[in-house]
Amino acid sequence: MAEPEVNLKRTYDAIIIGSGAAGGMAAHVLTSHGLQVLLLEAGKKLPIEQELRSMEWPYDNAHRGFLPPDSHSLTFNEYTIRNPPYGAGFEKAKHLHSYIGSSDYVKSIVVDEHENPFTGTNYAWVRARCLGGKTNIWGRLALRLSDYDFKAKDRDGFGENWPISYSEIAPYYDKVDLYLGITGVKENLPYLPDSIFQRPTKLNCAELTLKQGIQKMDRVLTQYRAGVTSEGLKHNKYRSRCYGRGACERKGGCDIHAAFDSPTGLIYPAMDTGNLTLRTNATVREITIDQQTGKASGAHFIDSQTMTDYHVRGKVVIVAASTLESARLLLLSKSPLHPNGLANSSGHVGHNFCEHIMGPGIAGRAKDLVGKAPTLDDGRPGGFYLTRFRNLAEKHPKFIRGYGFEGGSGSTMFPRGTDTHGFGADFKQEVRKNQGAFIGMGGFGEVLARYENFVELDPAVKDKWGIPSLRFHYKFGDNEHRMAEDMKETAQEMFEAAGFEIVHVNSRVLTEGWSIHELGTARMGNDPKTSVLNQFEQSHDVKNLFVVDGSAFVNASCQNPTWTIMALCWRSCDYLADELRQGNL
Ligand SMILES: Cc1cc2nc3c(=O)[nH]c(=O)nc-3n(C[C@H](O)[C@H](O)[C@H](O)COP(=O)(O)OP(=O)(O)OC[C@H]3O[C@@H](n4cnc5c(N)ncnc54)[C@H](O)[C@@H]3O)c2cc1C
Ligand code: SF4
Repeated sequence: MAEPEVNLKRTYDAIIIGSGAAGGMAAHVLTSHGLQVLLLEAGKKLPIEQELRSMEWPYDNAHRGFLPPDSHSLTFNEYTIRNPPYGAGFEKAKHLHSYIGSSDYVKSIVVDEHENPFTGTNYAWVRARCLGGKTNIWGRLALRLSDYDFKAKDRDGFGENWPISYSEIAPYYDKVDLYLGITGVKENLPYLPDSIFQRPTKLNCAELTLKQGIQKMDRVLTQYRAGVTSEGLKHNKYRSRCYGRGACERKGGCDIHAAFDSPTGLIYPAMDTGNLTLRTNATVREITIDQQTGKASGAHFIDSQTMTDYHVRGKVVIVAASTLESARLLLLSKSPLHPNGLANSSGHVGHNFCEHIMGPGIAGRAKDLVGKAPTLDDGRPGGFYLTRFRNLAEKHPKFIRGYGFEGGSGSTMFPRGTDTHGFGADFKQEVRKNQGAFIGMGGFGEVLARYENFVELDPAVKDKWGIPSLRFHYKFGDNEHRMAEDMKETAQEMFEAAGFEIVHVNSRVLTEGWSIHELGTARMGNDPKTSVLNQFEQSHDVKNLFVVDGSAFVNASCQNPTWTIMALCWRSCDYLADELRQGNL
């Protein structure tokens, strides 16, 4: 597809920074409104199908799917015993990736920690710098939030309520469902609203056993709600329907784009309108301000490869660089009018940083499936989601908020969760006999949004492009640790209720950041003194500046965020287009 050249002389209607879930959605909505939009993306446009190779067999890959020997991806242990910047001590590794970058299929998608350092407290910060950002490799669990999340303060007194309620965002969730496709089953749960689902995947035998086993405990297990089109999308020529094949389990992306990714789902269709100019390799280092009007005037970007510096102009600037990068950019954009960073008169930019705690989980064995003929469970976009059950009707004595579990079972290319030991033919036979009987799940719990969890600019360390890096001040608190303890116990009680033999119970909490669901660093709110954005993700301080990614979240809930990021962004961009038309921006 030919990309129009960026025109440095014109003033675009809107400049979007970042091309992931948020930036892609902004491009789709604003170009549909007829606006002339410039999309700036720091990474390159990769030949993504050649990177993902979803149908490649391990034996056809030089390293059996793992990284080449000159590269390294950080392990849990290394995150525990080392401090950021993680590049120090790994000088011999040509490329150093976060924990998620351990496969040959994602090595060009995730960033090199040598080039992108950060400092402060330990954090497994997973970043993807390329067209589409992290959506090229996301896990696709696509969940809605509810008023249990938006109005959580009303329930337990902690933090702030969102400035919107479910009824205001529900029509936008519907639009996202219909435009991008989602699979799942209706459950009619007030705390996990249903989507407009396409054909769901099937639960397998052990998963059904667990579902039935926990029903008497009033707990709900449902099919993985995947941001995948199982029936196809007539309006999108870039995406195929899911054929239940390939490497979904590998989480290395879907090379026929049945799983949503921002380029094929949003950006290419936006380019087809003729209203979108895409500039990749454009690392934005500052949002500029007209010192006369106080409004955003455009952005300075560095060509990521040639290091040449450019300035582009826009009537509106939309920041969508991902939660932590967006906060960094606002903090970098200091000026006499905004000495603490842009949109930061409240002092809340970078603060209230929240996400999901992970680690506790369980592996078990359905004994009656041992020795049964294997089933075909590869090529499913996910297994199951076990929904939140804490602090709904009753109040838990030890912690507030909730958690859910993601899990799966069945026969897959690589036998999972086995505790099989031994050697040679006997070992192989044991693995075959047991593999379809294993079932496992891990918890995702809400990390409370606390002011004292924050990022700021490091005064000394810079990235490869000379841009100051982030310094983290972020730790899980007591509420999270008590919740993690409960996850371990309830996982065990539910596997017992299902009659599984328990193979392993995990109580280890993974490093902060592991969930890859960073949120909250420029939160929305009605009060400009305690929030950065209003309910339309518009800066309280600078009315033609919008921040449309996860940084706008007021709390993390325990549901995965991407579907909500996109629904909110759609709502905000409809408002933006209206305001621009009326001359209010
Ligand atoms: C392995 C994995 C599994 C996941 N699983 C799930 C899941 O199951 N469910 C779920 O809801 N979410 C999941 N996520 C998270 C999901 O991918 C993110 O929530 C989503 O991609 C966020 O979108 P975004 O647009 O904010 O950020 P991104 O997708 O990260 O996009 C940001 C873009 O901005 C660009 N950028 C950054 N800085 C600059 C700059 N200065 N100038 C220009 N461009 C810039 C980046 O290069 C990037 O392309 C997962 C993520 C990963 C990696
Ligand atoms: S199972 Fe479906 S969504 Fe997953 S990789 Fe295969 S085709 Fe893509």
